Amino acid sequence: MCSIIAANHQGELDLVFFENRDRPKELFIGNDIRQIQDVIGIYDFRAKGMACGYSIQSETAGGVANILGYTGSKSRGVILLRALEEAKSAKDAGRIIREEVSGGDYSSARYVLCDGNSIVSLENFGTKVHLSEDQRKRFLVTANHFRNLRSGMRHESSVLREKYLKTIGSNITEKSILRLATRHRNPAICRHGRTLSSFIVFKNHNPKQSRILYSLGEPCKGYKEFSLK
Ligand SMILES: [Zn+2]
Repeated sequence: MCSIIAANHQGELDLVFFENRDRPKELFIGNDIRQIQDVIGIYDFRAKGMACGYSIQSETAGGVANILGYTGSKSRGVILLRALEEAKSAKDAGRIIREEVSGGDYSSARYVLCDGNSIVSLENFGTKVHLSEDQRKRFLVTANHFRNLRSGMRHESSVLREKYLKTIGSNITEKSILRLATRHRNPAICRHGRTLSSFIVFKNHNPKQSRILYSLGEPCKGYKEFSLK
């Protein structure tokens, strides 16, 4: 289960991406942070893909939230990593994923892609796919249920968590993201015994630079910065 926030045009931040990754329902071996070509993200050892990541080439961030209900044979993290490696933008990444998942080989999920210009979300269940790329959208949050497709599990705890994520509202700052990421009160975003890793991208406007923060383990124990060469 996961909590995702994607935003752009937020004051001094051109892009903000946040994902807390919780332990998946399926078998889990471990995860770490690594760079694969131009993509830096949380790598899942078993799936050999990324739960979330950022391309320093296209300056596009992306993440996937598992939705229970449909089980496919292929890994969601693998297609997310490929989309981030190949795409020139968030929209481009959304189209790559749409093309790939519409065959029905991937387990149900909600994907979020974000760059400085657009935020794209995609939902898939079997061969049903819904792609949303509203150009005016500056802010989008996701937990573990669908917004558009009428299928998949819809746990009350996921609905509550998503409602809470929305309260971060407009004018997101580094401080507000870090505060939210480490919240323990119900609905908890830092979920002890559940949260495996956390990944944050801040792309500043002036000076123009991206920073990647991560934690392996609960985010309240502190973030490290991934050094970009
Ligand atoms: Zn905590």
